[in-house]
Amino acid sequence: MAKRRPLIAGNWKMFKSCQDAVDTARLLAGLASGADHTDIMIAPSFTSLFPVSQVLKSSAIALGAQNLHWEKEGAFTGEISADMLHSCGCSHVIIGHSERRQFFGECDETVNKRIACAVSNHLVPVFCIGETEIEREQDKTMNILDKQVKDGLKGLGSDELKALVLAYEPVWAIGTGKTATPDQVQDVHLFLRSLIGDVYGIEFAKSIRIIYGGSVKPANISELMMLEDVDGALVGGASLDAETFNKIIRFK
Ligand code: PEP
Repeated sequence: MAKRRPLIAGNWKMFKSCQDAVDTARLLAGLASGADHTDIMIAPSFTSLFPVSQVLKSSAIALGAQNLHWEKEGAFTGEISADMLHSCGCSHVIIGHSERRQFFGECDETVNKRIACAVSNHLVPVFCIGETEIEREQDKTMNILDKQVKDGLKGLGSDELKALVLAYEPVWAIGTGKTATPDQVQDVHLFLRSLIGDVYGIEFAKSIRIIYGGSVKPANISELMMLEDVDGALVGGASLDAETFNKIIRFK
């Protein structure tokens, strides 16, 4: 079977003012124009979503948010709902990023609520999972991922998860300059695909995208994209500069 259509996604984290975000998005839209071999998504901070959506209107680049709350509305100071994301032009949302897990109390149960909310509101969930360095050293990688995937997707059926993007992001490789080796990445992605296959069936597992994140840059994207079970990348630091991100988008 042919590989799935790739997705190259940029996570801008807590960087860029509105003006910087708009300028970067405009530059990227121009540079990436015609790159129709891949889907492209950028996730600016909440405050820049609407202005960036205006810039992306005439491009094929999708807009994503970096989180969402599962309630429709209410007294949840500091949170943002699926309706609000739609009204800003978002089609995607990153859920369960390791920085949310590490610094903001995100756990598998809240990740599960966010994914359920995203899919019921037709937002594509980019569901992040990954082991820490200690967990890898202790040979617990697959156990950790198994739990994160099963708990994160609990109660959700394959019909609801058709658009799911699974992002394998080893915590020790995020923002550290350490990239997992191609063998490590392929081993994990194959494991994740068979895990999804055990729960949802092999045809479904073959259809979903599993992308890699962790110090992806122009110099390593092509070897990652050659791997059988890698369907794209979630890029942090190297997505902040439009020219660098465009080089990643233009992987061979
Ligand atoms: C990320 O934030 O999801 C990420 C992978 O960051 P970086 O590319 O900087 O390692």
